[in-house]
Amino acid sequence: MQLSEHFSLADLVKSDVANRLKIKNIPNEKEINCLGQVAKNILEPIWSHFKVSFVPSSGYRCLKLNRVLKSKDTSQHIKGEAVDIEVPGISNFDLAEWIYKNLDFDQLILEFYKPGEPTSGWVHCSYIDRGRRQEVLTYSDQTYSNGLIG
Ligand SMILES: [Zn+2]
Repeated sequence: MQLSEHFSLADLVKSDVANRLKIKNIPNEKEINCLGQVAKNILEPIWSHFKVSFVPSSGYRCLKLNRVLKSKDTSQHIKGEAVDIEVPGISNFDLAEWIYKNLDFDQLILEFYKPGEPTSGWVHCSYIDRGRRQEVLTYSDQTYSNGLIG
């Protein structure tokens, strides 16, 4: 099932950890709808701008998978509202900055990025239909800071 031009539902539910532990990581209709919104409003514009093929490293996570990954129960990944992304050849800081300046998102987090190491960490981005917060954070050393710090 295709969610948008370049992204399939399989792209947004795949998980090596789920496969290995035989966790059924299957979103319901509402969650699939949210994943479609993320694909159209976040992933496609990134693809169009950077013109590089990429697949999110994490999208939908059922509660069980999310807990195995030691993510909080409040994670937007559980609702199909968030993706973790890296674009080959693009620094994760530059990717986060481009999203910040160009996209309408709910929450953007530059996670585990180490200045001077372009491929370190990843970019977490969420999208919701209404009431988007446009919140921008950097997460490292178990601490959230406002804005993008690189
Ligand atoms: Zn994430």
